[in-house]
Amino acid sequence: MKFRKTIYSLMGVGVILIIICGVIVWNISHFGDTKVAFLDIGQGDSILISRGSYQILIDGGPDGTILMEQLGAQMPFWDRNIEIVIATHPDSDHIDGLVSVFKNYSVNQFWYTDAGKDTSVYRALSHYAKNESGVEKIIAYSGLRADIVSGVHLDVIYPFKNTMGDIEDMNDSSIATLLTVGEETFYFGGDLTSIIEDALPLNDEITILKASHHGSKFSTSDVFLEKTAPRDVIISAGKDNRYGHPHKRVLQSVKNIGAQIFRTDQQGTIVYRCHQEKCNVVLKK
Ligand SMILES: [Zn+2]
Repeated sequence: MKFRKTIYSLMGVGVILIIICGVIVWNISHFGDTKVAFLDIGQGDSILISRGSYQILIDGGPDGTILMEQLGAQMPFWDRNIEIVIATHPDSDHIDGLVSVFKNYSVNQFWYTDAGKDTSVYRALSHYAKNESGVEKIIAYSGLRADIVSGVHLDVIYPFKNTMGDIEDMNDSSIATLLTVGEETFYFGGDLTSIIEDALPLNDEITILKASHHGSKFSTSDVFLEKTAPRDVIISAGKDNRYGHPHKRVLQSVKNIGAQIFRTDQQGTIVYRCHQEKCNVVLKK
C-alpha cells in the first residue's frame, strides 16, 4: 500500500516537472519572437512592441490603472524597464495612462511631438521625462529610427521637420511610425486625419494597419487603403464608446479591399507574434 502511494507521488512530481520544463522550453524558443500587442485599454490607443526584454510603448490609453494591468499581462514580471515610450500626440485618450508608466517603470527614451497641448497631464509627463531623471527626451520627426534587432526596426515617417507650426487639428500632429519585422510592416498613425494620411509617402508595403483615430470617418480613406493594401486592419476603440467609433464607412472600406478586421472593443487585446519574419495574430478565446 505504502509502495503504491510512493509510486503515485513520484508520478505526480514527474508530471509537474514535465509541465515546468515544457513552459521553460516554450518561453526560451519564443524569446526571439517579436510581439506586437494592441492593448485593450478602453477608448484610446496603446500598443506594446516587445522583443525579449526590449519594449517600445506607443501611447498609454486614458487610464493608468488599466494600462498597468495590461502591461503586467504582456511583460515579464522581472522586467521594469521600457526602452522607448512614444506619446503620438497630447490627447488624453493617448497620454493619460503614460504618467503611471513613468511612475512604475524606468524609461530610456521619451519620443514626443513638439505641438504640445498645455494640459496638466502633458506637464506631468514632461516632468517625469526630464533629462535629469535619466530619460532622454526626443522630439520625433520623420527619419528617426529605433533599431530593435537586425531586420526589426521602428521608423518615424511623420511629422516632417518644420511643419508643426501649420497644424490646426491636434490629431494631425500625431507621430506616425512603421514597424518592420522581416517581410511584415505595421503602420501606427495615431489619430492622423486623411488630409495627412493620404499624402504620406507610402506604397503597398503595409501588411498590418492600425486604423487611425479609432476608425473615425475622417481617417483611413479609400485612397489610403487602396494605396497601402493591408492584409489586416486593427481598430482600437472602447466598447460602446460615445463617439460611435469605428465608423461604418471605414468598416465598409476595409471590407472592400478584402482585409481582415480585428477590434479591441470586440476581441480585447490583439496580439501578433512574429516568428521567423512572419506575423500571426493570436486571440484569447
Ligand atoms: Zn484618440
